[in-house]
Amino acid sequence: MLTDTLNIAVTKTEESRLATTDFDNLPFGRTFSDHMFIADYEGGEWKNFQIVPYGEIGLSPAISALHYGQAFFEGIKAYKHADGRIAIFRPEKNAERSNASAERLCMPQIPVEMYLQALSAIVEIDKDWVPSKEGHSLYIRPFMFATDPYLGVTPSETYKFIILTGPVGPYFSKNLKVKIETSFSRASDGGFGFAKAAGNYGGSMLPARRATEEGFDQLIWTDSREHAYIEELGAANIMFMIDGKVITPSTRDTILKGVTRDTVLTLAKSWGIEVEERRVSVAEILSAIKEGRITDAFGAGTAATIAHIAEIGHEGEVYTLPDPAKREFSNRVLQTLNAIRYGRAADEFNWNY
Ligand code: PMP
Repeated sequence: MLTDTLNIAVTKTEESRLATTDFDNLPFGRTFSDHMFIADYEGGEWKNFQIVPYGEIGLSPAISALHYGQAFFEGIKAYKHADGRIAIFRPEKNAERSNASAERLCMPQIPVEMYLQALSAIVEIDKDWVPSKEGHSLYIRPFMFATDPYLGVTPSETYKFIILTGPVGPYFSKNLKVKIETSFSRASDGGFGFAKAAGNYGGSMLPARRATEEGFDQLIWTDSREHAYIEELGAANIMFMIDGKVITPSTRDTILKGVTRDTVLTLAKSWGIEVEERRVSVAEILSAIKEGRITDAFGAGTAATIAHIAEIGHEGEVYTLPDPAKREFSNRVLQTLNAIRYGRAADEFNWNY
């Protein structure tokens, strides 16, 4: 653990909810640990570092985050090892990505050291909330938003950085039937799809709902110009194995640089599997399916880790992919990753923090 140079003022809860929380029933994102971390940005610096009981915070209804969307978030997980130690998975990557989001939204940077200290402190105080069951973890949600009570469309001068945590079970329990989206877009060239900006998610809800109404679980986002190139799967990166190679869209301004994406590609390369990061066309995927050359297809993200794609719909046709249970690559990734995250295998890439 790092030395606490932030001088965090800690107010502990008088009434822990731990004993009354059902750890066998943890729908994603609904259960919060006892405490949260809060810092304020004012006068050009971060200050007022606090850990307080999780609960409501008072804000002006005029804060610019609510009106103009100067807000972003992150998602990280911490795992409990058999020896009781707790490891946060690759949080430096999320700190880096937060700062990329902050830059694009004209928000202040968070020093990586401050980010990691804040994460350590909040996980430490609520360490009993980290579940130990396989597939379960502590979900960590850092986020920053603009707090100037001012209706001018201009970057705020004050911000809050908050970290919530909560125990979670497995995210997607089923194999996915997904639709290749051909009218809506998640992100556009020159936009901010690469940032974890709150607004990107607000805009994705209607297309996602439409896909659900058509009987799909999720949608595959395509490029906004032609809807001819594959970009992401819902709120996850997308990967295919075609002719024995791992193929994934290269990151660009419309695609989030996923930590899981990087993790999967690193594992693949270490196993001697060829990886291609490039533009991936819808036509290429459809013909590879028809020719039986796709052996794997999945979403990769912190929440799901690996979400197998069982069926892909495109313009009224539904194509079935190989049986997810028999897919060698993604299942090996999942097993290897779990072994590393729960401390059963050597952490050869130094991913556990
Ligand atoms: N793409 C989008 C749009 C996402 O919201 C996420 C989830 N953070 C990802 C990809 C996967 O990123 P990560 O592996 O870092 O969770």
